[in-house]
Amino acid sequence: MYDSIVIGCGFAGATVARELAERRGHKVLVLDSRSHVGGNCYDLEDENGILIHQYGPHIFHTNIDRVYDYLSRFTEWYDYSHEVVGNVYGKELPIPFNLNTLEMVYGDRAPHLEELLVQEFGQGARVPILDLMNHENPELQEIAQYVYENVFLKYTMKQLGKSPKEIDPAVSGRVPVLLSRDNRYFQDKYQGLPLHGYTPIFETMLDYEGIELRLDCEARRVLTINPESDTPILLDGDEFEGEVIFTGALDELFDCCYGRLPYRSLRFDFEHYNQKFYQSHGVVNYTVSEDFTRITEFKYLTGQLDKEDTTIVKEYPMPYSGKEGEIPYYAINNEANNALYEKYVKLVEKIPQFHLLGRLAEYKYYNIDAIVDRALTLAREI
Ligand code: UDP
Repeated sequence: MYDSIVIGCGFAGATVARELAERRGHKVLVLDSRSHVGGNCYDLEDENGILIHQYGPHIFHTNIDRVYDYLSRFTEWYDYSHEVVGNVYGKELPIPFNLNTLEMVYGDRAPHLEELLVQEFGQGARVPILDLMNHENPELQEIAQYVYENVFLKYTMKQLGKSPKEIDPAVSGRVPVLLSRDNRYFQDKYQGLPLHGYTPIFETMLDYEGIELRLDCEARRVLTINPESDTPILLDGDEFEGEVIFTGALDELFDCCYGRLPYRSLRFDFEHYNQKFYQSHGVVNYTVSEDFTRITEFKYLTGQLDKEDTTIVKEYPMPYSGKEGEIPYYAINNEANNALYEKYVKLVEKIPQFHLLGRLAEYKYYNIDAIVDRALTLAREI
């Protein structure tokens, strides 16, 4: 009855389902345990008519032409360039730390420091603070130390729930100093938000001949995976020989038989205010204080700038324990966790028509564009 089954309908699942239906003429069954499409990119209007991202801010940006072209089949774009400031002891500084930030922090010393930086790394460079820390010039080390303490350390401790000692120094390599006056968070060729929100993209992608969508459906209720059996995949008790694309948490598919894969979760506290704006930018990161990591004010992102009221969300990182209602957001990649993940991968490797796709199933961080790109490739391979 079906040629393929896709579990999960975020960007990974929706893209692969649409590609298999459209290019291969597959009959595709799409399952999702939630009551809505879109995975963590799901957005909706709250009771005040403000478009909110239910699972935290998602800002599309890419340099990959085929991803931009592909998604542009399903949406027009609101031309939004994302800017972030860090609230550092009450003062707002552009993030990533750039030459504007340098001026605000170092005042009269800034021109001299700018000259040093540009001479060493060139105008426009993105220099990981790790490179500055290891530099022989003490003034460059001092800049790195400032960024480490005021932008990186406490934010990342909150985000990961770890003490400074437990944080791999390599992680700080991700935090750059940008040698330009461009205050945008991303420098990609394409950036923006879907003009009418993310949810309509998914509805359009999945509204296609051959795609059958079952929401509120736990995959384990209808699918049985037994790698040791001659009939390793059963759908409603009957052998299934088609392709299965799984985008969920792999440990949970196997009842965590080797133990739980650690993920980080988040709690989102939404607040509504009867005032035009709450804060100065779409996202303000609290890099040295507060228990939440950041506050997002949605109207900047979505373009509802004329509204007289506003909705914000505060993000509180928390552990993921697998309790009903909790959602895993970020894989916690380290040697031990990656090794545990590989044990689960070994189980499904025995089933050639079973494919893992996405942040949860591949246990790694993906941006929207990277997962759409990967999903397009996987669909072509199939
Ligand atoms: N980061 C940081 N300070 C910031 C913003 C980001 O140290 O103000 C680091 C932090 O380690 C974080 C990573 O960069 O985990 C990625 O953060 P970002 O907000 O870009 O990613 P998202 O959480 O939106 O996926």
